[in-house]
Amino acid sequence: MTRIRATTVVADARFGNHRGPAEHPECPERLAPVQAAIDARGDRVDHLEPRYAEPDEILRIHVRDHFEAVAEAVRHAPRQLDPDTYVSPQSLDVALLAAGGTIELVRQVARGQRQPGLAAVRPPGHHAEADHAMGFCLFNNIAIAARALQADEGMERILILDWDVHHGNGTQHSFEEDPSVLFVSIHQFPYYPGTGDFGEAGRGKGTGATLNIPMPAGCGDAEYVGVLQRVVMPAAAAFRPEMILVSCGFDAHRDDPLAAMEVSGEGFRAMTALVRAMAEELCQGRLAFVLEGGYADSGLREGTEAVLDGLLDPHPRLPPLEPLAPNTPLERVVWGVVEIHGEKIPGLGAP
Ligand SMILES: [Zn+2]
Repeated sequence: MTRIRATTVVADARFGNHRGPAEHPECPERLAPVQAAIDARGDRVDHLEPRYAEPDEILRIHVRDHFEAVAEAVRHAPRQLDPDTYVSPQSLDVALLAAGGTIELVRQVARGQRQPGLAAVRPPGHHAEADHAMGFCLFNNIAIAARALQADEGMERILILDWDVHHGNGTQHSFEEDPSVLFVSIHQFPYYPGTGDFGEAGRGKGTGATLNIPMPAGCGDAEYVGVLQRVVMPAAAAFRPEMILVSCGFDAHRDDPLAAMEVSGEGFRAMTALVRAMAEELCQGRLAFVLEGGYADSGLREGTEAVLDGLLDPHPRLPPLEPLAPNTPLERVVWGVVEIHGEKIPGLGAP
């Protein structure tokens, strides 16, 4: 009898209890297509109940003043915290549940108690800075979870790959001076939030442990797969992570209303297959995906299906390495990264 592979999912109706002004793109309705994809995978999904993060877990990344500012805004909700970021009366609870659910997923996967999986949480986290909310994000779920792995599970080296279409400024700044967390971001550039150019490569002891892959508008499956193969995989191999966490937004999807990339459902499947292969080769398969953005129903549905199927499939199909055609956006991006990081990372650009 073959053992049926399962995948772990953190999903909860309470993630819908954070709600902003009418027409705000980061809305509870985003979870419907995500949930539909989860439900369609039936009993192959292992549901993990989220818990509320403890304030001390949040404070590993955020300053106390920020935590208190969110709590205070919630007491006077509805409130705006920045031009894009709001709170409603239950937002503090929901944000703590998102962070706590992410921590539990990564911790249980790290311990080998659960299969790799997806934290389908909201609000998202990767724009949240140590001292302020930003870009729909209150607390930085994935950064908080990475610190929990280091503090509680004895892990040293963690790779955070951020493929949300926006640069993960909050995550970058959380680990900018820290060589123990390699932060790699693939994003549309120039675009919101404005950071994430090639030259942002970490500071002090963390120099080299931030790797930005800024992509021009219009990139699709070939470019995303190409940078994963030519940049992310060699960088990960050189870093030797003990676990891989993915800030998985689905707003690089071609239908997304906020961005201008062209990734398809097939593209997200190929990306998931590559990331899983990387985790199996480098860290015994320890891998967790954390939902960030994604604002088209079709993108959220196809993206979630791609990630779940990529985790469930016993042998996901790996895309072939295509030749690097000259004078293409992919070539320019790859060599832009090589110029900054090529000396330290063997095989970067041409694995
Ligand atoms: Zn985004």
